[in-house]
Amino acid sequence: MPRIVVTHPIHEAGLKLLRDRFEVKVHEKKELSDTDFKKLVKGADALVTLLTDQVTAEVMDAAGSQLKIIAQFAVGFDNVDLEAAKQRNIFVTNTPGGISGPAVAEHALMLMLSVARHTVPADAFMRTGKYKQWDPDIFIGRQLTGATVGIIGTGQIGSIFAKMCHNGMGMKVLYSDVNRNEDLERDLGALQVPKEKLLVEADVVSIHVPLLPATHHLINAEALQMMKHTAILINTSRGPVVDEKALVTALKHKHIFGAGLDVFEFEPKLAEGLAELENVVAMPHIGSATEAARIGMAECVARNIITTFAGETPPNNIVK
Ligand code: NAD
Repeated sequence: MPRIVVTHPIHEAGLKLLRDRFEVKVHEKKELSDTDFKKLVKGADALVTLLTDQVTAEVMDAAGSQLKIIAQFAVGFDNVDLEAAKQRNIFVTNTPGGISGPAVAEHALMLMLSVARHTVPADAFMRTGKYKQWDPDIFIGRQLTGATVGIIGTGQIGSIFAKMCHNGMGMKVLYSDVNRNEDLERDLGALQVPKEKLLVEADVVSIHVPLLPATHHLINAEALQMMKHTAILINTSRGPVVDEKALVTALKHKHIFGAGLDVFEFEPKLAEGLAELENVVAMPHIGSATEAARIGMAECVARNIITTFAGETPPNNIVK
């Protein structure tokens, strides 16, 4: 019977599908050192991994030559050595953005509005008893209805976010992507523009690209300088897409209005000075943290593994 090793408990909806068919070992402890990881995977036919697991060639070899699939419990898979998997004929699958996309897009929307309306400092103001009477001069924010949103990466999540902004708030949509998105152009009147034009014109810039060598520090000091002083930056993709040190400088000097971040360059650490800034909303990478998304992701992982052991290519295989 195929042996499935799960590095962290996932939703029971997926675990049940696996337990009904396979021998399943779930690592309950949160911390997993490199050495423990290699011990844990020994003899596994399938691995279920999180984005915090560094799935290197050594880990694959520690599992053994019977390893058939690495089923990543996430959209992003920058923690998996795809080349090493390819060389060893191991499938690597993800849980595509169609499943957790609504959750992540809602999170981006929440971050955008929270930054625009000073939600975090205003909440602290209430809790610390500073609110004495209605005051027309406090917490003046930015109105975004009819403003321009610039979306970098209009794949599954970026597209959902674009629809929320356009259909919900009448926002104009500019986008920058290596591919054209004809659906967004037709449905929302979205306009594909070079990244530089997007940065100069957008009131909100939201990033939805995968972490790749080409997207590392896609938003650097120069890019931040191009943005409007009134603009908001949202990052729910991967931390290293933004040069966080440069972002701290831009926020400190009010080169931009604010930033909403769910991911960090040196996660779980924050760049020096970021935590002291009032014009930042920082979240602990919880973009996909809804019950619906977690169930969908767990079932997706199970489907990929079940298909593999039925002798077929799993539906969300990334290794071609
Ligand atoms: P996707 O693959 O559907 O879309 C990514 C888009 O980025 C594609 O349209 C692609 O063409 C574009 N792209 C790639 N390289 C580019 C470049 N150099 N410049 C411009 N565009 C480029 O992915 P998705 O499902 O929309 O997810 C996007 C990312 O969101 C994931 O890779 C993941 O890192 C992140 N994510 C974060 C969370 C969270 O909890 N915060 C949850 C899910 C996904």
